[in-house]
Amino acid sequence: MQNKYYPLINSRTVAHLRKQVGNGTLKHSYLLVTPDKSAAADIFMLFALTVNCTGGRGGVNGACFECAECRKILSENHSGVKAYNGKFNTADVNDLIDDLYIRPIDGGFKLYFINNADALLPAVQNKLLKSLEEPPEYVIFFLAAANEDAVLKTVTSRCEKLYETTFDGDTAERILKAEYPDDDFVKNAVLCADGFVDNARTMIEDAAYRKLFYECIEIMNGLKKSGEIINYLFRPAFEKEYFKTTLNILEAMVNATIRGIETGDEKLIFIKDTDVCVLNKYIFLIVVARKKTAFNAVSVSVAENLLMNMLEVKYLCR
Ligand SMILES: [Zn+2]
Repeated sequence: MQNKYYPLINSRTVAHLRKQVGNGTLKHSYLLVTPDKSAAADIFMLFALTVNCTGGRGGVNGACFECAECRKILSENHSGVKAYNGKFNTADVNDLIDDLYIRPIDGGFKLYFINNADALLPAVQNKLLKSLEEPPEYVIFFLAAANEDAVLKTVTSRCEKLYETTFDGDTAERILKAEYPDDDFVKNAVLCADGFVDNARTMIEDAAYRKLFYECIEIMNGLKKSGEIINYLFRPAFEKEYFKTTLNILEAMVNATIRGIETGDEKLIFIKDTDVCVLNKYIFLIVVARKKTAFNAVSVSVAENLLMNMLEVKYLCR
C-alpha cells in the first residue's frame, strides 16, 4: 500500500530498526543525525508503525499500513506514539514526563519523537535527561538532530546513534515524487541537491531557483561564439545575488552530464554535443570562478571569464 512514508522503507536507518524490532534488540533511546527534518519525521513514523503493527507483518518485514494499529498511527491517533515536530519547550517536556508514567493501554510500547533536538534549550535537555537515564521499560525515545554537537553529550551518550545524511538519487526522487507527483522539476532538484532531500524540496518550491536552472541549460547549450557572450552576461543568473547558486547548478549539470555520457543515460545529459574531456575542464573553470567570487570579485566579469574560457576549452578539446 502506498502512503507518504512508503518511499523511505528501504532507507538504511529504517532497515536497521526493522531488524532490531524483529530480533527484539530495541534500545530505549535513539538519536537520528540527519540534515533532513521531514525525512527524520517519516523515519520515526515508519519505526512506530513497525513496532506496533499487528497486521501479521511487523518486525523485520515492516508494517502492513492497514491493520487497526497502523491506521491509528497513520491518522496520528495512537496513544502510544507522540511526535513533537515543532518547538519543544519546558511545558512540553513537563507534559511528556507526566505522560511517560501512564502505562500504554494495550501493553505495547510508548514512543516519543522529538525533532530538532539540537535546538532544545540546555535546561530542557537536562530535564529530559532524567527520563532518558531511567525510562519506564515500555518507553522508547527517538530524537533527531541535524547537528549532533549541539546536543548535550550527556544526552547523546544515552542514545544509539543513527546517521542518515544523504539519500541515493532513487530514494530522494521517490520521496519527492510522493510529495510532488506532477512536478517534472523533481528530477532536476534531486540532481542539484546531491541527495539532500530538504535542499531539493527548497529548490522545488523556489520559483527563482527553477528559473535559474532553465537559464543555465539555455546558456550551456546556446552559447556558441565569443561574440554572443554579451547576450548572456546581464541575465539574472550572473547577478551578484544569484551567481553562487548559478555556479552550483552549473557544476551539478556538468557532473550529471559526465555521468550520463559514461552510463549512456540520456536523461542526465543536460549539456548536449560535448565530451568528458571538455566537461572535466568545465569543472575546473567553475571551481576557479567560485574562488574568485569568494574574494568578492565582480560577478559579471567573473562570468565573462568563465564563459570565454568554456568556449576556448570546447575549441581546444576538439
Ligand atoms: Zn499493521
